[in-house]
Amino acid sequence: MRRARRYIVRVRPDGTVRVTIPRGGSSAEAARFLHRHSAWIASERARVHAASVTPAWTDGATMMLRGELVTMEVGVDTRGRRVVRYGERTVFLNGADDLRVGIEADLRALARDELGRRLHAFAADHGLRISGLTIRNQRSRWGSCSRAGRIALNYRLVQMPPPVRDYVLLHELMHLKEQNHSRRFWRLVEAACPDFRLAERWLRRHGPGLL
Ligand SMILES: [Zn+2]
Repeated sequence: MRRARRYIVRVRPDGTVRVTIPRGGSSAEAARFLHRHSAWIASERARVHAASVTPAWTDGATMMLRGELVTMEVGVDTRGRRVVRYGERTVFLNGADDLRVGIEADLRALARDELGRRLHAFAADHGLRISGLTIRNQRSRWGSCSRAGRIALNYRLVQMPPPVRDYVLLHELMHLKEQNHSRRFWRLVEAACPDFRLAERWLRRHGPGLL
């Protein structure tokens, strides 16, 4: 690209890699540039891949937690209990429970704690009152807000990058002021969360992989 000043590498959502060659650059130099960044490219491709496919739910497979890729590691503790670790979380598996059952239950507990605290902090910042919070396992939506002021949140929000999670929380909170998706509503969202378009794009691209 004539206007580019340096080599730039980008991993696209489909996992392909694109490298920009600056004016005066060469494909040989681009190849060396890619080689130097191969570790970053590999981890970025793994992240993109994990975000767009459902986890395999097997020992050693990766999943997303707060936007980071973490590995599920199955083991046995000193008392002979089956345990799975992912990120900083440790989950004891009951009897025949598979990884998915154990981890999803744990994500739900994590969501109640983490999303609840975040939501109440945001509500306080904006002078809003929530009449109740429900953590749900929804296949088609990230959150909802009833006329009575009850907010429901999908527990998978804890898997998203924090700025995307925050956008969903703020979106639902703004519905306490405006129960629709009018222009007025989106102006409230933009004031509360100026980067909401980036978050919406992330949700469209990667959200389905989490469901
Ligand atoms: Zn909405």
